[in-house]
Formats: sequence, C-alpha cells, structure tokens
Amino acid sequence: MSCASRRHNPERGVIRVRTLSETLPPPQTQLPQFRIAVPPPDLSRWSAGNCGIAGVHHFEATLPGPHVALTALMHGNEYSGAHVLADLLTRNIRPHRGRLSLIFLNLAAFARFDPQKPTLSRFVEEDMNRLWCADLVHSSHTSVEMERVREIIPIMETVDALLDLHSMLWPSPPAYLCGLTEKSHALACTLSAAHPKPPLVVQDGGHEDGPRLIDYERFASNRTGATACLLEAGQHWRPESVTTAHIATQLFLGQMGLLSPQPLCATPAGPARCAVVTHTVLAHSSRFVFTRAFRSGDVVKKAGSLVAFDGQDEIRTPYSNCLLVLPNLRPMRGHTAVRLARLVDSA
Ligand SMILES: [Zn+2]
Repeated sequence: MSCASRRHNPERGVIRVRTLSETLPPPQTQLPQFRIAVPPPDLSRWSAGNCGIAGVHHFEATLPGPHVALTALMHGNEYSGAHVLADLLTRNIRPHRGRLSLIFLNLAAFARFDPQKPTLSRFVEEDMNRLWCADLVHSSHTSVEMERVREIIPIMETVDALLDLHSMLWPSPPAYLCGLTEKSHALACTLSAAHPKPPLVVQDGGHEDGPRLIDYERFASNRTGATACLLEAGQHWRPESVTTAHIATQLFLGQMGLLSPQPLCATPAGPARCAVVTHTVLAHSSRFVFTRAFRSGDVVKKAGSLVAFDGQDEIRTPYSNCLLVLPNLRPMRGHTAVRLARLVDSA
C-alpha cells in the first residue's frame, strides 16, 4: 500500500530478545466468554439517515459555526457510541450553530452482531479503521468497508472537528487516542480534563497496516485546522462505557459550541495523564503470551522488565515507567499485541 502510515515502521529500540530456552510458551487458547451487559441499540429508525446516505444524519443551524462530526460503529461490535448517537437523535438534539453530523459507520458489520459470537462482527471483510487515505479511496481496492469509506469520505472533507467513538474488548479504563499534531492533542487533553475522571490521553502515529479515520490527512496535517480524536470508552458491552461515551459526547459538543456546555463535575478534574507511543509490538508468532493479564494504562516501572513471550522471543520494556496501551491478550500472528508509550507532561 502506498499510504505513508503503511510504510511507517514504528517498532524500534531493543525490546525483543531471542531466548535460549527450548521451552516454547503454549499456543494461544480461545477467547474467554465476555458478558453482554448492554444489548445492541435498535437503530431501525436511524439506519436510513436523513440525507440520502445510510446511517448519516446532518443538522444545520442558522448561526454559522464549525462542522462537527460524531462517528460510531467503525467496528460493528463496538456499539456504546451508537447508543449515544441514537439517544441524541431520539432527543431531537439540534446544534446552536454550525453543522452537526452523526454517523453510524459500519452498519453492515453491526447487522451481523450475534451475542453468542460477539467478537465476529468487528468488520465484514476488513478493518474499516485502516482505510482512511486518498490513495486507497482512489485505488481499485474494494471491500464492503472500502465502499463505505468511499461513501463517507466526502463528508469528512468539510469536517472541522471529529470525535470517533470506540470501545475495547479487554476490560480497561477509558482513553483518548490522537495523532501526533498539537491541535489534536490539545482537543483530546481538553476533553479528558473535563471528565469527572480524566481518561488517559495517548498520542500515536497510527497503525502500520493502514490509517485510521483520525489519521486522515485533513486531521493529521498541520496545514489544516481540522482536529480529530478517538475515544476508547471502556469494554464493549459494559454500561460504564456507554456512560463514558455519553460524557465525552456532551463535552465535545459543548466545547465546539454546538450545545450548551453542561458542567459534569463540581470541581475541575485536573490535567489529563498523557503518553506518547514509542513502540508497536506485533505478534510474530501464534504463541504470543503476556506474563500477566495487563490492562491498558498499566505502567511497568523498571526498564528491561519482561512483559510477554512471543514464541522464542522475550518482550521487555525499553525504558522505565513504560505504559502499556491496549494490550491484546490473544493477538493473532501478524497483529498488534501491544503499544508501548512514554508518559509525558500534559498540555
Ligand atoms: Zn474500535
């Protein structure tokens, strides 16, 4: 692929050491059963959209202002954000100024959600959040997700601020993810600091296997003022994740001046904890196992600490106070197992 972030190789520094041991870790076992405490939302009223594009709702105020977008269901089984968008639509929310776009992204994958197999509806053919670049949009590459990206991209061309609502498979505290630009970092820090319990803010340059929506050039370039960040609201199917996505949405729309700001806590919550991703650890084998069930946001104090085995390789932390971002406790070979991040002073 010719997109810049597909060429980007973020794994650098000595974190991987070949062991002399004859004993290999056991192969990956199956995923544990995750409880579905929140059922999927009923989107039948909203799936047609209001502008001729399925799942897309635009609302225009008479007062001028920014074009603000909220996206949910990038991944079909991450529906906490879809609950929040459905709630905004049910309540007939209208922007005070500017334009508001509420977008259910991967409705095709969401339609396949099966509580008996809840992890299988992340996408239909490929991960939609690896396809957001002009080269791919204009290429001959095709899939259910690619066609949907082609439908949505023209909307993104006029968006000034975007919040992309996601959630996580492995239970972990919420986090905002943003790219490396100062403008997006500032947006994520401002939102985080206003939460009753500020989520971690993680800056990274994206994934090796393709750009996320927040990495789309309009948002990732310093030549535009457009900003974007992504919320990982918590575990996919827990009620707290819907609450966190709801709080983030209210704060975002208040911050952009589209809704009246609603104070959510009596006292300022304090600065966000910020980290910058330095390494992306890929599973080179099907025998990638962590030394314990790490959660996203865990900090490993000592440099050189063993955190995982990947077949015959040991994975060790490259520096002290190394933060683990979104560890995937059952990574498939070739997939990201964890990102390592350095804590920094907040903006
Ligand atoms: Zn996601």
